[in-house]
Order: sequence, then C-alpha cells, then structure tokens
Amino acid sequence: DELLLEYQPKYDLSTGQVTGAEALVRCHSPDIGRIQPSDFIPLAEETNLIVEIGEWVIDRVCSDLARWQDTIGSPGRIAINLSLKQLRQRNFFNSVSKIFQRHGIKPTDIEFEITESTLAEDIGRTVQILETLSAYGLQLAIDDFGTGYSSLSYLHQLPVNALKIDRSFVSPSQPNLRNQTIAESIVGLSNLLGFHAIAEGIETPQQLAWLRSLQCEYGQGFLFAPPVPAAQAEQLLRDNRPFDV
Ligand code: C2E
Ligand code: MG
Ligand code: MG
Repeated sequence: DELLLEYQPKYDLSTGQVTGAEALVRCHSPDIGRIQPSDFIPLAEETNLIVEIGEWVIDRVCSDLARWQDTIGSPGRIAINLSLKQLRQRNFFNSVSKIFQRHGIKPTDIEFEITESTLAEDIGRTVQILETLSAYGLQLAIDDFGTGYSSLSYLHQLPVNALKIDRSFVSPSQPNLRNQTIAESIVGLSNLLGFHAIAEGIETPQQLAWLRSLQCEYGQGFLFAPPVPAAQAEQLLRDNRPFDV
C-alpha cells in the first residue's frame, strides 16, 4: 500500500472555471520516503510493473470519480497518464472497460494522456489501439507535446482530442523568444486542426496572461494549484471557484 494518487485541477483559461483534474501517482516508501514518479515510472516500465501500477491507477481514479459524482454531481473529467507498455497490453481495452463498468464510470468522463515520445514507436499499431479507445468515447491527449520525435504527419492519423504543451515551453527556466514561439505555434496548430490546447506548468500571472492572449483553452500549474491529495481535490472540484481572470 505504498502507492497513492494526487490530483491537479485543470482550468478553462477563458472562464476561469475548474474543468476537472489530472491524476498523478506517488510512491511513499517507509524506508526511503517519497519517491518521485520521474524516478520510479521508468523503473516500473523496465520491469513491466507499470502494467499493474497502471491498472491500479485507473481503478483508483474510477473509484474516486464515482464517489465525487455522488457527492458533487459534476466534478468534471479526470485525466490519467498512460504508459505505452500498458496501452500495448493485449487485453488493455477489456481490462479498462471492465474497470469502468465496475465503478459505473462513463468513458466520456475520462481522458487518457499519452506522451509524445512513446507514440512514435510502431505507429500503425498505436493508431489501431487509440481508435478503439476513441470509439469507446474516451478523450485522448498527447502529453509533453513538442519534446518527442513526433512527425507532424501523423497528427492527422491519430484520433486525439488535445495537445498538452510541455511545461518547458510554458515556464522555461530560461525564457526566450524561441520557447515562446514554439508554445505559440502549438496553440496555433491546435486551433487550426481542431484540437484543444492545454498548457501545463503555468507558474506566473504573466504566463497566464500570455496564454490567454494566444487563446489557449485550458491550463494547469502551480499558479492555480499543485497536485493535492484526493480529499483536497474533492474540495477544489466542489467549490468550483474560478481563478481571478
Ligand atoms: P506529466 O503527466 O507531464 O505531469 C506533469 C508534471 O508536472 C507533474 O509531475 C506535476 O506535478 C508537475 N507540475 C504541475 N504543475 C507544475 C508547475 O506549475 N511547475 C512545475 N515545475 N511542475 C509542475 P510529477 O507528478 O512528478 O509527474 C511526472 C511524470 O510522471 C508525469 O508527467 C507523467 O509522465 C508521469 N506519471 C505520473 N503519474 C503517472 C501514472 O499514473 N502513470 C504513468 N504511466 N505515468 C505517470
Ligand atoms: Mg500528464
Ligand atoms: Mg506533461
């Protein structure tokens, strides 16, 4: 029982409303203390443990969301990060749909985030799997967009709904015109191709104002709220207090 989930709320940047949250897994070891996902996720992928961890995450999200739908009514949509290994499991779709059914969750209430770097491998097979998930009603987002090796040519093959702009372009450690221009181009590309644009890692009011001026639709970041434990996330989703726009 060393895994737990935190949730980071996601906002509509034009209205300031909370639209849901992203689930982020954490590991608390009694011996080592807190282990960051950037440390244990790669290990879990290497050892295949990611399949079980990933299933645990989906199950826990569905159970939290089912409870929130009872207590809050419309808590919004919850995003879950997926590893390619998990996605490639032969029975992935069956196991996902079983978990959804068990908790009474509609696929439209969930968004899967898949990192751009993993999408590039065996694109034909990936397109097939994503099409099955999309036909089921799930929303799909490409995470860390702009950092992988993706070819723009398959953006029109993939049934994705949203591009998440990597935070290195949103809140770069050394801001410069290039980072800014890349972020602006991703928002432009999204708007022109009919994807939702989501900015991650918004940390300052200046970054928020800039993204809003670009008409970037959604955003997350420490400026609004860090990832928080489930009970606190429930409170944020219930209050649905818009940020000052
Ligand atoms: P990600 O999905 O791109 O998640 C965003 C990361 O940015 C999170 O780090 C979050 O805590 C952090 N973050 C959010 N807002 C800000 C901000 O304003 N400034 C800064 N500097 N950082 C911010 P975290 O939780 O350490 O997760 C790291 C990565 O681990 C995630 O990146 C995701 O790729 C992976 N991950 C997390 N949970 C899962 C999971 O359940 N399954 C899988 N397969 N991967 C996961
Ligand atoms: Mg993510
Ligand atoms: Mg990301």
